Amino acid sequence: MNIVLLGPPGAGKGTLAGLLKDGRDLLHISTGDLLREEMQQQTELGLEAKSYVEKGELVPDDLVTKLLANKLKAAPEKTGYLLDGYPRTRAQAESLDTLLNQIGRPLGAALYLDADLDLIIRRITGRRVAPKSGRVYHITNRPPKREGYCDESGEPLIQRPDDNEETVRKRMKVYLENTLPIVQYYEDKGILTKMNGAKDSEDLEKELIEFFDEQAKLN
Ligand code: ADP
Repeated sequence: MNIVLLGPPGAGKGTLAGLLKDGRDLLHISTGDLLREEMQQQTELGLEAKSYVEKGELVPDDLVTKLLANKLKAAPEKTGYLLDGYPRTRAQAESLDTLLNQIGRPLGAALYLDADLDLIIRRITGRRVAPKSGRVYHITNRPPKREGYCDESGEPLIQRPDDNEETVRKRMKVYLENTLPIVQYYEDKGILTKMNGAKDSEDLEKELIEFFDEQAKLN
């Protein structure tokens, strides 16, 4: 199963990705995580991406597409993939189609997770992450057992520099202008499924079970 996840920042794409991967052979590719890795290692690409990410703007299509293509081409053949944070523009959606055709690994579904701005701001400003283990917490909704530290790795939690209210509003504006229109792109292809990002993970899990039942009927 090859899937793209669509939706505004903070809609819960990371949580959904975790639920989707559970017990399935899926490679989770988050372009946000890939960019943060490059930034941390101060590669040429990372240094170029940094100013865009910190302002909440989109990194130029060619940089992100190169990063994604390298990752996808290296993915084991039988493993499905789960794209999170890509595509974010119409040009990226088209580049993705070309790339997937080239490597013969077509998309099976696009999952669109929606949420409103108030919820997004509450979720993102309260979000804390463990940079090494990649685990995501929330100061009130999903606090770690020991305040400020990751349950799994024990490392100190940080707030992403772009997780402040001003940058979130900017990211939301960028999302509405550039990314929301590609929901229609996948609707037109007949592979779009909508989900409600306001739900908690238990209810999302139920929606996912329905989604996989539906897919099984189609195949
Ligand atoms: P979120 O979904 O919470 O906004 P991400 O981790 O997906 O966060 O992305 C963080 C930032 O990385 C974005 O605001 C943007 O600057 C950059 N980015 C990630 N993916 C892409 C992409 N496909 N195209 C352009 N920029 C991207």
